[in-house]
This record gives sequence, C-alpha cells and structure tokens, in this order.
Amino acid sequence: MPLHKLFLLLLFLSLSGCATNPVTGEKQFNLMSEDKEMAMGDSYYPVYTQVSNGLFQDKNLQSYINQTGKKCAAKSHRPQLNYEFNVVNTSVINAYALPGGKISITRGLLNLMENEDQLAGVLSHEIGHVAARHVASGYTRSVLTGFGLSLLDTVMAAKEVKNREYYNTAAGLATNLIVMKYSRDQEREADALGMEYMVKAGYNPVGFVQAMQILQSLSQREPSKLEIMFQSHPMPLERIENAKAQIQSNFATLQSNTFQVDEFLKNTNYLKKVSLAYKQCDQAEELTKKEKFGDAIIKLKNALTIAPDEALIHTTLSATYFAEKKYDEATNEIKQSLSIYPDLFMSRFLAGLILHTTNNFKTSITHLKIADKLVPDNVNVVFYLGLNYEKLKKIETAAGYYKRLLQLTTKGEKAEYAYKRLCEWGYISHSR
Ligand SMILES: [Zn+2]
Repeated sequence: MPLHKLFLLLLFLSLSGCATNPVTGEKQFNLMSEDKEMAMGDSYYPVYTQVSNGLFQDKNLQSYINQTGKKCAAKSHRPQLNYEFNVVNTSVINAYALPGGKISITRGLLNLMENEDQLAGVLSHEIGHVAARHVASGYTRSVLTGFGLSLLDTVMAAKEVKNREYYNTAAGLATNLIVMKYSRDQEREADALGMEYMVKAGYNPVGFVQAMQILQSLSQREPSKLEIMFQSHPMPLERIENAKAQIQSNFATLQSNTFQVDEFLKNTNYLKKVSLAYKQCDQAEELTKKEKFGDAIIKLKNALTIAPDEALIHTTLSATYFAEKKYDEATNEIKQSLSIYPDLFMSRFLAGLILHTTNNFKTSITHLKIADKLVPDNVNVVFYLGLNYEKLKKIETAAGYYKRLLQLTTKGEKAEYAYKRLCEWGYISHSR
C-alpha cells in the first residue's frame, strides 16, 4: 500500500469512533467526536470555498445569508455548533455542508431563488444533514474519492499543452470536491428536519416546496445544470410530495401565501445583476476550451461592461489571453483581478503560471506561494514552485518541492520530471 493511502486510512480510522446521534439519541458507530468535527470543518471550509471559486464579493449579501442560516440553525438539534454560511462564486447549482456546521450555497442556486423562505428551506436542509450527523460519513468518503480523482487529473493534465493547465487545475478542483453523497433515508431525514427548523425560525414551509419545484422544473429544461446537485440530492419529485405531506400533517395551521420577499430582493440585487455577466463568462469558458479565443474575448469584454468589479471574470479573460499566448493582455487582466480579490486561488495560480511562462521566476514564486496556502498540496502549484527555483538555480529548494510533489503523486509527466531531476541531483538513487 502506498504511503499516502496508508496515511489516509489511518486518518479515517482515527476519526471513526462511537458517538451519540443528536437527533435520535442513539449511539452510532462511525461518528467522529464533536471537537474533531468542528476542527475538520474549520480547516476545510476555506479550502472548499476556494475550490468553489471563492467567496462571492458582496459583503452585505454574505452577512444576510449568514444571518438567515444562523436563525434556522439556532432552532436545530445542535444549536451549540459554530455555524457559518457563505455564498461561493460558482454557477454550478448546489449547496453543501461540512462537518461542524460550515455551509455553502452557490451563486448559481441563489440566483434561482425568489424569497427568503426558499433560502431558509435550502439552508435548513443542509443544517438537517449537520444536525443528524450525516455529513461526517459522507464527508470522509468524499475526501477519499477527491484524492483519487485528483491523481487522474494530474495524469490528464500532463498530456495537455502548458496553456491548458489553468483550465485543468481549475476544473479538476471544483468538480471533485463538492459532491457529497447521501442515502435516500438521509435525504428524507434532512428534508423533514430542515422544514421543522425553518418553521421554528418563523419561515413559511411552503418556501421549501417552492425551492424544490424551481429545481424540478429546471431539471426538465436544462438537466445538465443540475448534474452535481442531483448526485448528492436525488429524486426531487418524491421529495416535493413528502414535503407537501409534512406541511399537511404538521404545519397545516401555518400554511399561508405570505413570503419574505423585500429583504431577499434587496440583498440579492447585485448577485442577480451580475449573474447575466456570469452567463456570458461561462459561455466564454466553453469557447476557450474549443480554442475559439476571439469569440470568447468578445463575450468576456461584454460581461465586464455589466460587471466590471467581478474579479473572476477578469481572471477568466486573463486565462483566455494566456491560452492565446497574449501575455501582456493576460498580465494586465490578472493584475486587475488581484487588485479586487487578492485571495482567490485561481488568480494566484494563473498569475504564477503567466509569470513563469514569461521568465519572471521570482515574482511567479510569490504568487504560487500564496496559492499554495489557499489550497494546499495542489500538484501543479508545487511543480511550478520547484521549476521556478530550478530556473533560479536554487537546487536545494527546488529539490524540496520535487520531493513534496512525489509525496502527492508518483504518476504523470510532472512526477516523472521531478523524479528524474532528483536522481540527477543525487537526492535519490536509481535503484528505487
Ligand atoms: Zn441533502
């Protein structure tokens, strides 16, 4: 068994144990302790946020989402947890929870919603997963699968030309990590608990049914948009029927046609406006992958007239220029992006890549080191750090990064390159 697999197995075993399920009161095997759960949530939340394209840059909206979520969480079976809620800047339609009550909703999902009751319904469903401690098991599994998949990505990335690297790294991250699979029973339980919590927090439970119906009708129109969501949250039709039945039996007296609309619209106004720009940005990304750079650039420039302050759009435009080998333009756009949002992994990685390609090794290192902090142990980041130091003839430091790379993966062109160099420099003997 390779060392890193053994390490993960040991990590998994040490996290498993016996704890009480807060919803059922029963002892349950394979739950991590509450302290470990919170520690894990604390350390992974920023990374999951980064791989979901970072925080949506709207402080008012972020605090509004956090308040709405906390109002519902206070009525849950685990009100003592340190809950946090944020909006991540991806068009993927999804919401997910990490252990310890760290919850994210995507720009894509929020853009579909019309009132605060719908929002409370979706957030409370995730709180339900946390309260019933579903997250712990699903999360451990997804960490393990995520690891396996990132190896595959490395192999794939190695075959591609260098200017594709940005897209491989960015895409590989976002899709791997945020799929958390729950069983049908866990989904039913989270739905029921979520409705209970949102009602206790003063929301109209019909809002949850509405949110489901919005997803249901979108899945009929554009099924591909909900692929990720439905991998972790299947069978909306049955869930809609169950939710309606629960309202009839438990909350019949609360049923009304009144929804909390004003605050919701006020706080999501900017998000809804820039969502039009992101639609063009998403189309441009597809065009860039097909090497239709000119068309992509037109769309991105158009997107920036609607949303000039969106760092991610500047980064996407920079990536397109980079793919087209227009390095001056690429540099200019990435600078603008970083001045708006300095702590976005993708921008730092791309900046590092552009500067490496244009032989600015020292500055490339500065950006890549920040990227390495934002999302630790990304194979591409570690590789380019090593390569920059090699170009600067700082062999010992370069060797350190190449060794780290080989601890992360032993497959692919980059690992082979690192291994070859370490042999040449006498750090490893050929008889491995
Ligand atoms: Zn769920």
